Amino acid sequence: MSYIVATEQLTKRYGSRTVVDGLNLRIPPGCVYGFLGPNGSGKSTTMKMLLSLVRPSSGEVHIMGQPMNPATRRGLLACIGSLIESPPGYGHLTGRENMRLVQRLLGLPDRYVDEAVRTVRMQDQLDKKVRDYSLGMKQRLGIAMALARRPRLLILDEPTNGLDPAGIEEIRDLLRRLSGAGVTVMVSSHLLGEIDKTATMLGILNGGRLIFQGTRDELLAASTPDVLIDTPDPEYANAQLKGMVVSRLDRGSVRVSGIGD
Ligand code: ADP
Repeated sequence: MSYIVATEQLTKRYGSRTVVDGLNLRIPPGCVYGFLGPNGSGKSTTMKMLLSLVRPSSGEVHIMGQPMNPATRRGLLACIGSLIESPPGYGHLTGRENMRLVQRLLGLPDRYVDEAVRTVRMQDQLDKKVRDYSLGMKQRLGIAMALARRPRLLILDEPTNGLDPAGIEEIRDLLRRLSGAGVTVMVSSHLLGEIDKTATMLGILNGGRLIFQGTRDELLAASTPDVLIDTPDPEYANAQLKGMVVSRLDRGSVRVSGIGD
C-alpha cells in the first residue's frame, strides 16, 4: 500500500518534554483523515513537522512514498496545500487580489484560482475586502488559497475553530466535496463530533501519542483503553476522561472503554 503520508516514529521534544511521541501515521490516498485530540496533544506540532515548519527531533516523514529530506523537500511541499495558523490574507485587499498575489509568488496560473473559488463556493464574495469577511469566509479563503496550488494533499489545522454551527457545516460540506474530487485531506479537531461524519479515517492523539488509528467503524468497535466512544453526554465523558476527545455522536449509549462500564 502506498500512503500519501507515512511517518516512522516521528517525535518532537522541547527540552526534556516530549510533545509528539513516536507517531506512525498512515494516511491512504483519497481519504479524509480526521486528526483528533484535546488541546495540547500535539496535533499542530505534528502537522508542522509534515510541512517541514518544525524539525523533528527524531523519526521520518514520507510523503507519497518519498522520504522528506533536503533533496526532496521542495518538490514534495509543492504537492501540499495547508491552512495551519490563522487564516492568511491582507485585510485591505479583496479575496481575489490576495489569491492572485499568492499565485504570482508561487508562479502558478490565475485560472487555478477560479476553480478553487468555485470549490469553496466563494464566487460572490471574492471581490469584497478581506477585512469585511466573517471568520468562516476567511477560513474558506485560506482553503481556496491552499487549493489553488492544486495539491495532492491538504493539511488543515482546526479549520472549524471559532466557527458557528453554520460555518462548521460549511467546512464539513467542503471536506466532503474535496474528498469526492480526489484530494486527500488531513484535518485536525479537538471535537470528534465536528468531523466524525466526514472523516473516513481517524487518528486520535493523546499526550503526543497516537492511541487509535483506523476507520470510524473500527473506532466504534474498538476496545482501546482511553478511547472515548459514542456518548450522548459530553459532560459525563469529560468528567471521566479529563479532557479526552469528546464524542458528540448523537446515538447509542455511553460506552467508554477501560473506564469500568
Ligand atoms: P495541539 O495542536 O494538539 O493543541 P500543539 O502541537 O500545539 O498541540 O502543542 C503540543 C504541546 O507542545 C503543548 O504542550 C505546547 O505547549 C507544546 N509546544 C508547542 N510548540 C512549542 C514550542 N515552540 N516550544 C515549546 N513547547 C511547545
